[in-house]
Amino acid sequence: MDILFYDTKPYDREAFAAALESYPDIKIKFLKADLTENTARLARGFDAVCGFVSSEIGKATVDILNECGIKLILMRCAGFNNVDIDTCKKRGIRILRVPGYSPEAVAEHAMALALTVNRKIHKAYVKVRENDFSLSGLIGYTFHGKTAGIIGTGKIGQAMVKICHGFGMKCIAYDYKPNPEIADICTYLPLERVLSQSDLISLHCPLTDATHHLIDKKTIPLLKDDCILVNTSRGALIDTEDLIEGIRAHRFFGVGLDVYEEEAYNVFEDRSEQILESSVTARLLSFPNVMITSHQGFFTREALTAIANTTLDNAMSFVKNEESPNEVKSKNG
Ligand code: NAD
Repeated sequence: MDILFYDTKPYDREAFAAALESYPDIKIKFLKADLTENTARLARGFDAVCGFVSSEIGKATVDILNECGIKLILMRCAGFNNVDIDTCKKRGIRILRVPGYSPEAVAEHAMALALTVNRKIHKAYVKVRENDFSLSGLIGYTFHGKTAGIIGTGKIGQAMVKICHGFGMKCIAYDYKPNPEIADICTYLPLERVLSQSDLISLHCPLTDATHHLIDKKTIPLLKDDCILVNTSRGALIDTEDLIEGIRAHRFFGVGLDVYEEEAYNVFEDRSEQILESSVTARLLSFPNVMITSHQGFFTREALTAIANTTLDNAMSFVKNEESPNEVKSKNG
């Protein structure tokens, strides 16, 4: 099986090259370019393509892949909101993803963001480097005894509940499918109550029609004063313009974003020599209580190895025409 890998970086190539040793029937060509309708034609002659979080796999891209004879899209990530599933179904193209390669890695990053904006680690780092050993502007609050509200308690949300529980926080959660594994350490409540009772809110549900702009000008007024909001899931769970208004209105103690709307242009790119084109990103970066990282929640050595192995397993299950629990069949997974 010949697979064309889009949007690859040196660390992807390294992880997949190591994993390939156990899959002699698979050959990979690595491309730097991402998968979009402009690059989809490069897939002619391959059996499958592999995309990532910023790939644009809408109707136009899927139609071109179909014309090129592609019958398998491998997503080397958990999310698949960027794939037009209906068109894939109509064209008989299967989609296989990597649902849970290292949920703890993402949850640990979510807590890192929460701690950073709470204890102002980003400011303290710069101050001390400048020989400013004063504590002004660095006061945070103690997480122990506070309430963590987790929205979406699948694999990552569950790991986040366990971390917050370990910090001595009271855990409440919203999910339409409560997770029995955390029933003893977490109480499920309606969304509005989770939002209004939590000191720390961490988003871990997928981006779907139902969760799009879950945090917006209608829900921000429900939040507890001085809460911390963390999003490591998908940018469009939060309406960024409404978030900016909320930050300006002093509704948040801190905001930690590993994902944000408009990230697609920036994500995984070095733009340090360029002037930022997006005013949304620039405005978010202007707030002292906002910490942004560039979709690095998954980025641990263990996760990269797991992503490579599962993606290649997915390819083999397609070759053998096997059913796979990693197949995306609808917008809900
Ligand atoms: P999962 O499928 O295990 O869990 C998602 C949970 O959300 C499920 O329990 C589901 O019932 C719940 N859910 C779905 N729709 C909901 C709704 N409308 N309201 C409330 N709950 C709802 O997924 P996961 O592996 O925990 O991943 C969660 C998300 O994290 C992914 O969709 C992806 O977008 C994101 N992610 C980000 C990174 C990163 O690097 N930042 C890495 C991996 C995944």
